[in-house]
Amino acid sequence: AEEVGGGDKEVVREYFNSTGFQRWKKIYGETDDVNRVQLDIRLGHSKTVENVLEMLKDEGPLQGLTVCDAGCGTGSLSIPLAKGGAVVFASDISAAMVSEAQQQAKEQLGGSSSGSGANTVMPKFEVRDLESVDGKYDTVVCLDVLIHYPQSKADGMIAHLASLAENRLILSFAPKTFYYDLLKRVGELFPGPSKATRAYLHAEADVERALRKVGWKIRKRGLITTQFYFARLVEAVPA
Ligand code: SAM
Repeated sequence: AEEVGGGDKEVVREYFNSTGFQRWKKIYGETDDVNRVQLDIRLGHSKTVENVLEMLKDEGPLQGLTVCDAGCGTGSLSIPLAKGGAVVFASDISAAMVSEAQQQAKEQLGGSSSGSGANTVMPKFEVRDLESVDGKYDTVVCLDVLIHYPQSKADGMIAHLASLAENRLILSFAPKTFYYDLLKRVGELFPGPSKATRAYLHAEADVERALRKVGWKIRKRGLITTQFYFARLVEAVPA
């Protein structure tokens, strides 16, 4: 069909290797040089990561669990997962993100003083778009990545991610609810200086349909909201 996605992907890659990298590295970091909105997004995102860790631990220990973290960013999820003993395969379309994640992992997991257990395995990091990730993993996680793609592209991404997962797929996306839709429209009327990429909202029903098409169903749902951060979290399993 339409090759809308190809264009989106190159724009996204370029953004996360340049201005987007600088912006999101700050948001996902711990430094004080963030504005009020960025601080709020940092808080919301950290709640998403916590929720995912809880979802994963609910089903059993992390120790030895193979996890693919697709679109890993600076390693916000991959690093705590590795700390918990999971065997993590982390990849991202942006080389800048992957190198930052690698450095963070070295700092946080590397030394003997890191507080991580003897069984900690360093995540395996790779520069790769999620469409070309292969292999099989117990669990595949893809957080806050679909927001960069229209639903037409997201369908294929969801199908591919599901094909890599043996037991579980965890996704987060910006939900297309009336309220958030409205907020976004208001935001578009008054664009701030740092709004560099387009954000796509996804209807939960569309994500559910994409999962059902490939034989998966949603088992658990979460909703994370702060003032400026909205994420629907879903855990899907083979139907
Ligand atoms: N998942 C991370 C987290 O929650 O901390 C990062 C989220 S960040 C908003 C989006 C990330 O997705 C960026 O690091 C970006 O480079 C990556 N990304 C965007 N499109 C991608 C694609 N097609 N394949 C892999 N990674 C992608």
